Amino acid sequence: MVPPATSYSRKFTTKEGLTIYVKQAKHVSYGATRPLANVTYAPVHYTGNAHDSAAGNANYFATSNTRQAGAQFFIDPNGIVFRSIQINQTAYAVGGFFTKKNGAGRYYKRCMNSNSVSIELCSYTMGYPTDAQMKSLALLLQYLKRKCPNLKTVLRHWDANGKDCPDPMVGAKNQKWKKLKKDMKARGVKGLKYA
Ligand SMILES: [Zn+2]
Repeated sequence: MVPPATSYSRKFTTKEGLTIYVKQAKHVSYGATRPLANVTYAPVHYTGNAHDSAAGNANYFATSNTRQAGAQFFIDPNGIVFRSIQINQTAYAVGGFFTKKNGAGRYYKRCMNSNSVSIELCSYTMGYPTDAQMKSLALLLQYLKRKCPNLKTVLRHWDANGKDCPDPMVGAKNQKWKKLKKDMKARGVKGLKYA
């Protein structure tokens, strides 16, 4: 794996074999800490950019972000994972409300910032994410499942509050989202359900 072309404060490898680079976001990006037992949801997002990296996003949130916005993890098409916000910290990721039209927002007021760990897919605006990106997502979900004993449900930001995120995967019968569920199971992710 190509090392990220930016600084990071440290890196560690999980028991599952996933290397996670750490670069903490500015405090405006997140709120209170919470016990890991409170985490029950893992929303999947996209950054909306066609050519960005996990390192670049982590760097942005560490140095430049001024909005109440952030996510715990970024995964790019090379499979590189950056942790931008600690898993016991509440990222400002799924707040607000967009719509409940056409099956969106089914988890509104259930999946919230306070009980979720958000995962952003970088450089993903169409088609299906890369194999390396999905491999890292599977390892990350397994890691989160181990660290957060009550983590039960993987969903889209779209399921949480109706935002078109990740855009290629939204919709009640989206085939790419169905594929992702199968993909995660095939990659050995156990004990989680999907929206
Ligand atoms: Zn999102």
